[in-house]
Amino acid sequence: MDYFRYLDNRLHCEQVPLDQIAASVGTPFYCYSQGTLERHFDVFSRAFAAVDHLICYSVKANSSLAILDTLARRGSGFDIVSGGELERVKRVGCPGSRVVFSGVGKSGAEIQAALEHDILLFNVESHGELLRINTLAGRMGKKAPIALRINPDVDPATHPYISTGLRRNKFGIPHPQAMELYRLAASLEHVIPMGLDCHIGSQLTTLEPFVDALKRVKQLLIELRRAGIPLRYLDLGGGLGIPYDAQQIPPHPERYAEALLQELNGLEITLILEPGRVIVGNAGVLVAGVEYVKEGEEKRFIITDAGMNDLLRPALYDAHHTILPVVRRFDREEILADVVGPICESGDFLAKDRVLPEFHAGELLAVRSAGAYGFSMSSNYNTRPRAAEVMVCQDRFAVVRPRETIHQLMEHETLFT
Ligand SMILES: *Cc1c(COP(=O)(O)O)cnc(C)c1O
Repeated sequence: MDYFRYLDNRLHCEQVPLDQIAASVGTPFYCYSQGTLERHFDVFSRAFAAVDHLICYSVKANSSLAILDTLARRGSGFDIVSGGELERVKRVGCPGSRVVFSGVGKSGAEIQAALEHDILLFNVESHGELLRINTLAGRMGKKAPIALRINPDVDPATHPYISTGLRRNKFGIPHPQAMELYRLAASLEHVIPMGLDCHIGSQLTTLEPFVDALKRVKQLLIELRRAGIPLRYLDLGGGLGIPYDAQQIPPHPERYAEALLQELNGLEITLILEPGRVIVGNAGVLVAGVEYVKEGEEKRFIITDAGMNDLLRPALYDAHHTILPVVRRFDREEILADVVGPICESGDFLAKDRVLPEFHAGELLAVRSAGAYGFSMSSNYNTRPRAAEVMVCQDRFAVVRPRETIHQLMEHETLFT
């Protein structure tokens, strides 16, 4: 459920027509619905109401301060993967007690900054990282709360670039090494084993892989308890998919919660979840202007002012995003076209071989489901300023990040003299 819909044939975000925003801020821009964001967070959190739990929104899905602030006010915690993301969650006033830190390559400086902020958990991904955290915590006279991220070796059946829980992936500690590393952790002076973590991938559209992974880590939790290493937290990561089109509808968060809670039954544990996409994906759209419509020899191209530097997912994952006209007209034929950007790469497309209403130069289109891994993956490739970001609440909108200027892009560069 989201708050993007047509009223009088104009696509609205909540009560604001997107063409009105375009007239005011120009294109391309990302537009986020605050009401949708809050709703998604509440639905997800409520689904786990029966157990002690903490939702740690995955910052990398969309790290804009207005998004983080909206979620922090709702009581969300945060899953960070860098020192930069730590600074972002500090900026919106999130206490360390609601922050978990994931990622395979935490630097010494990042670990230190997280220790200073007294975060809830380090999700440790290797033997080397465990020792490094122990050393740094020792130097600071602290004890670092840690979880080991276990790679359960289950197939999430998603795109290979976003699967993380297979033996061949770089993520986590191989399941067979877990017990030994927990024993080591328990013997170290400056870390405390507090939890167990696993995150198997992203955009999962069925529940089985989640349940399979949970079965494996639950067994491990029980064995650890027997071995005298009782853990307080079980972090099951993120990964629940969203509908990008009508063909594949992933399970509702309530079904997801039911499946997990059923498997957890009786296990006394505080549950941590790290949803990203399912919270923010369908709370945002990318609005672009049509620059040209070009008749190729084989294909028609709708060339927009948004490209792969603004939304990388189609190029990177061959991802499908629904494309809608911002103003719906009924005098248009349907055509088959590629929607492409201005970037000098053949991989620069937003949609391929798509049946769409005919567009004319100067008109606007909206790329749906662009709230997650949209702006946060955007770049300045081809020296293109990153798009503006707008947030809407009911009948009000504000630019929460202005469009970059070309001047900003070159500001810190110098000639070599
Ligand atoms: C990316 C990531 C998430 C969020 O994944 P979604 O598919 O956006 O829910 C959660 N945890 C970790 C460790 C991640 O890397």
